[in-house]
Amino acid sequence: MSKALVVANWKMNPATFREAKKLFEATKRAVTISKGSSVVVAPPAIYLRELRAGYTGRQLAFAAQDVSHDAGGAHTGELSLSQIKEAGASYCLIGHSERRARGETNDDTRKKVAAALVAKVTPILCVGETKRDAGGEHLEGIREQLRAGFTDVLSSAVSKVIVAYEPVWAIGGEEAVAPRHMHEMAIFIRKTLVALHGEGALSLKILYGGAATEQNARDMLRHGDVSGLLVGHVSVDVERFSALLQSISK
Ligand code: PEP
Repeated sequence: MSKALVVANWKMNPATFREAKKLFEATKRAVTISKGSSVVVAPPAIYLRELRAGYTGRQLAFAAQDVSHDAGGAHTGELSLSQIKEAGASYCLIGHSERRARGETNDDTRKKVAAALVAKVTPILCVGETKRDAGGEHLEGIREQLRAGFTDVLSSAVSKVIVAYEPVWAIGGEEAVAPRHMHEMAIFIRKTLVALHGEGALSLKILYGGAATEQNARDMLRHGDVSGLLVGHVSVDVERFSALLQSISK
């Protein structure tokens, strides 16, 4: 089995660079001990360059938590792909629900995914419903997020995008989606993208995010039909993150 891809989304944590360095050192140790995963750290952008510059290993990669689709110019507060890439990011989260809640649209994700591919930064497109309903109406919203995010992606490049399925109602909690429901969702995601872009979508990497913990990570990877996990609050708790990595290296 190939290594699971584990993305540590630190969000707006920790409060100081000193703590960020400590957290990074502990993350490095946890990654060295565990053998079953490739880990990508997504720190606050202001910490990215220095953490990357101080890292000489090969086991970890870095991600930005968001990026602008513009190449440069008068866009106060934004960061471009060339800036995050130069700072050390080889991945970028796009369309995280916490960005969508602040106004990011499906059309923004379309532009960002396309721009990331041009810049050779791997886009991780986050999709997910705010509410699940028994009749499956939430699937329409996810189909639309996928359709929009992949609009400008050539069929030959579909598998260069990673999709993270993150049910918004699970984020920040302790209860993830059941692995068999994730499995159904993975089938739905692949079917949707195959219908839009052809069979290249069959080799797409899908991650699960939303209360991924040391308790459920192993089952999710075994039975959820996912290539890895997007981990939020557990990734900034060193003991828990270390336990999560160890649970999946068994
Ligand atoms: C996230 O917000 O990307 C996430 C996965 O959060 P958590 O693990 O805290 O649910």
